[in-house]
Amino acid sequence: MFGLIGHLTSLEHAQLVARDLGYPEYADQGLDFWCSAPPQIVDDITVTSITGQKIQGKYVESCFLPEMLATRRIKAATRKIVNAMAHAQKHGINITALGGFSSIIFENFNLNQIQQVRNVTLEFERFTTGNTHTAYIICKQVEQAAPQYGIDLAKATIAVCGATGDIGSAVCRWLNARTDVGELLLIARNQERLQDLQAELGRGKIMDLSEALPQADIIVWVASMPKGVEIDPATLKKPCLLIDGGYPKNLATKIQSPDVFVLNGGIVEHSLDIDWKIMNIVNMDVPARQLFACFAESMLLEFEKWYTNFSWGRNRITVEKMEQIGQVSVKHGFRPLLVA
Ligand code: NDP
Repeated sequence: MFGLIGHLTSLEHAQLVARDLGYPEYADQGLDFWCSAPPQIVDDITVTSITGQKIQGKYVESCFLPEMLATRRIKAATRKIVNAMAHAQKHGINITALGGFSSIIFENFNLNQIQQVRNVTLEFERFTTGNTHTAYIICKQVEQAAPQYGIDLAKATIAVCGATGDIGSAVCRWLNARTDVGELLLIARNQERLQDLQAELGRGKIMDLSEALPQADIIVWVASMPKGVEIDPATLKKPCLLIDGGYPKNLATKIQSPDVFVLNGGIVEHSLDIDWKIMNIVNMDVPARQLFACFAESMLLEFEKWYTNFSWGRNRITVEKMEQIGQVSVKHGFRPLLVA
């Protein structure tokens, strides 16, 4: 059995969906209530591969909200993640993806030091961040969507916002090794990590967001921002392809400009309907088939019986592992979302 640990994008979003999911007692509550709410299994899932194989899974809502980080409720945030992991393990789940901020909190606050959660000893090999598949899917979105929008990759300038992150660095490695791209612009706040990445790649220009955006034909957003940034589409190149892989979204602006195309980044579409209700609440256009690539990674590991933390730690994703997960992604009927 596979598992997905997820969370909602804001307190407002959480209050809205609590009622829909049959938890009216959560709907009128503020952040303090969510800080003390325990994890819940809120969906049972069946996925059928195009090979005919069927697997079962469960969705664990951690009750974490990004506002907990913004208001420095760090202890509550970290408790949410380890409690959700213990909950998944207690329910016998073999491999569980840590969606959205779950893996970022796990890494940033060194939660591998908290192995004992009440009577559960966490077995970390039962969890994956799902970031290898996410990075692979974002690269495929770049490669396949660019020509759709009249962008020639060989001449294109690609800005990666969040370049030094787990997903961002993997995207840079792939674009450097596997694709003929014009120029890479590397964006993040910590200069030392940017310089290390630039040295590893042997290329790439380090830039501020405001300097990079007007130069980019493609912008890959994979920064871990609790709230999206506003951008003025008038400052962007035309055409410009924006691939927003953040959860919550890195872009706060709803861009309405005929030559600026915004793709939901790190999202896959399955070839067959998935039996679940959970993707309705995160506003996918086709909720029965579209999902986060990190969640799809735990499904792929279950299909292949690769019971291992395939994606774990920070900045260790290799191009070879991206290819490996990419092959089984295609085999079981997942493809990158390409419609803006
Ligand atoms: P990491 O924490 O590993 O990396 C985040 C990156 O963003 C770092 O380079 C960080 O560098 C940079 N960053 C953070 N804040 C800012 C800022 N204000 N301006 C510029 N750069 C910034 O995160 P991940 O790679 O694990 O995840 C990235 C995003 O992808 C998250 O939003 C996550 O929720 C989402 N995600 C999506 C998935 C999917 O299936 N679609 C799956 C998993 C994650 P620095 O701190 O130096 O600025």
